[in-house]
Amino acid sequence: MKRRRKDESNTSESESVESPMKKQKQNPKRDEATIRNEMLDRGALLLKFSVTKKPSQKVKDDWRIIERKGFLVTTLGCLIPASTYFFKARAKKVGYDCAYSFFIGEEPRRQEMKKSTNQFGWDTADSMSHRCHRNQCASFLHIVREPRWKNWKRNYCGYDGRCDCGVEPSCVSRYYPDHFQRDEPSYLTYETKGLKKKLDEMFGTENISVKLLPRDIYVNEDTKRAARMKRIKGSSNTLKETKKKLKRKEAKTEAK
Ligand SMILES: [Zn+2]
Ligand SMILES: [Zn+2]
Repeated sequence: MKRRRKDESNTSESESVESPMKKQKQNPKRDEATIRNEMLDRGALLLKFSVTKKPSQKVKDDWRIIERKGFLVTTLGCLIPASTYFFKARAKKVGYDCAYSFFIGEEPRRQEMKKSTNQFGWDTADSMSHRCHRNQCASFLHIVREPRWKNWKRNYCGYDGRCDCGVEPSCVSRYYPDHFQRDEPSYLTYETKGLKKKLDEMFGTENISVKLLPRDIYVNEDTKRAARMKRIKGSSNTLKETKKKLKRKEAKTEAK
């Protein structure tokens, strides 16, 4: 977490003047329903994953929050969450970090700031690699934690389309630099024939299963939430109190 903040301070973002005390509250927060609907409009799927190894409640909650906004699923098997969970988006949660904890069952405690090298002076700091070279991807099949030299070795891999970097597990697609405008990938959508089967084949393992949820599964909940928000806004509560109240209510409903 610390590293991310440091990274940000190096960038020249000019969004808004921020006081250090109010770091997290500066941007108008778009609600879950808005983000989800945008994702659905882009062809996202609402999925619910289960893992046999029980993750801690915190890890599970973090993942579910991401999950509820939907994923763009590419035909290559990338699982792309809403952009709020991309690495650079000031995210409190990063999609692939949460995925790592939820699916692999380990804390993605990367010590990238901590310098470490091997006997040849190669950078061996912990780093998270994407076998698909798509940094947004949160597919547990595409993320690998490995020494940074391996991460770097994956760059410029696949000139002829096949992984030729020699790093295991192998890359699943050709490398592209970040600034390169890639073609929009093709996605699995609710209209895809045999969607459930395809998802099972793509993500189902001995320990992991995926359930496809109807695209309108949250509609009632969203409507009620919006109505409640409107009601409570009319009262004298501050927004902060309102949100707290809503969270408590939701926790209660979920517990039922
Ligand atoms: Zn991927
Ligand atoms: Zn490779």
